[in-house]
Order: sequence, then C-alpha cells, then structure tokens
Amino acid sequence: MPHLYAIAIGSNRRHGRFGRPPQVVEAAIARLDADFGLFDASPIILNPAHGGAGRDFANAVALVESALDPAAMLPALKAIERDYGRRPGKRWGERVLDLDIIAWSGGKWRSSGLEVPHRAAASRAFVIQPLAAIAPHWPIYGSLNARHLAVRLARRSPVRGPAKHAAS
Ligand code: AMP
Repeated sequence: MPHLYAIAIGSNRRHGRFGRPPQVVEAAIARLDADFGLFDASPIILNPAHGGAGRDFANAVALVESALDPAAMLPALKAIERDYGRRPGKRWGERVLDLDIIAWSGGKWRSSGLEVPHRAAASRAFVIQPLAAIAPHWPIYGSLNARHLAVRLARRSPVRGPAKHAAS
C-alpha cells in the first residue's frame, strides 16, 4: 500500500533554466509527479520573506504517493533539492528549492534528524493555508486537521479592518 505524503515546497531564488520562484515551484511539482505520483497540488502562493531571507517566497503543498517510509523519503527529497542547485547553508538563506515533509498517512514518525508531522508547520500560514486548500480534513496533529489549523492561525493574526474615523 503506498503512503500519502503532504510535501511543502518553497523557493525564493531564481533558477537558471526554470526561471523565477513560482516557476521553480511549478517545476518541482512536475518533478514530484514524475518521481512519486502526484495526487493533488495546491495553487502557488507568494509570501514575504521571513527570518531575514531577502526575496519573497513562492510556496505550495503537494500530495504525493510513495511506498517509501519517511526516513527514505527525506533523502529522496534532498536529492531533488540538490538537483535544483540548493547547497546546505544558512537555514533561512536564499534557496532555489526547499522540500519539507509536513505529514504522512502513517501518523507520527521520529528518526534521527526527522520528525513527522513537521514540528513548525502548524505556525506557518504559508504551509497550512495551501494544505487546507487541498486536504482540509486530514488530521495533522492529533484530531486537529488542516482546516482547524488554518482557522487557528487566522484567529491569531486577525486581518484589520479599515481605521474608524470619528464622524465630522
Ligand atoms: P531545512 O533546511 O529548513 O529544509 O531543514 C531541513 C532539515 O530539517 C532536514 O535535513 C531534516 O534533518 C530536518 N527535518 C526535521 N523534520 C523534518 C521534516 N518533517 N521534513 C523535512 N526536514 C525535516
């Protein structure tokens, strides 16, 4: 039985052949489809850089099928990152391609240097929003599904309405 994976995709640096970050993410989705079989992919969204990483990011989430367990899946994803010219270095530095395992259908997984579900994903709108768009009912942390997490994130950073002016 193949496992289902939610893979977060990010790019904030252009690639010589594929072009700007949104095109890099598009190419990475095609590559994940070729390597693993794509079940679904979210729209590609643009996000301001975080952690002092210069240019804006393009992000998406893909659902892929694979017989690999997470310990084997991680090096397969790292090999794709390397193919796209990413070098290990600054954690939040400019990156051609970043691939993270957000969740898999096998539940919790822990092995050296790897934790699934991804520990930081719940606080990252650029991961949770695209995931909620394609897999709203997937329970990620216990009974909390992607839609619950998206609502929780939206509540924590409410969108402000227009400033109220005193009647003149
Ligand atoms: P980053 O450079 O931010 O993509 O971090 C990648 C490193 O984080 C990997 O080499 C893993 O050792 C570690 N890591 C821990 N959990 C995960 C996960 N769920 N998906 C991807 N990388 C993970």
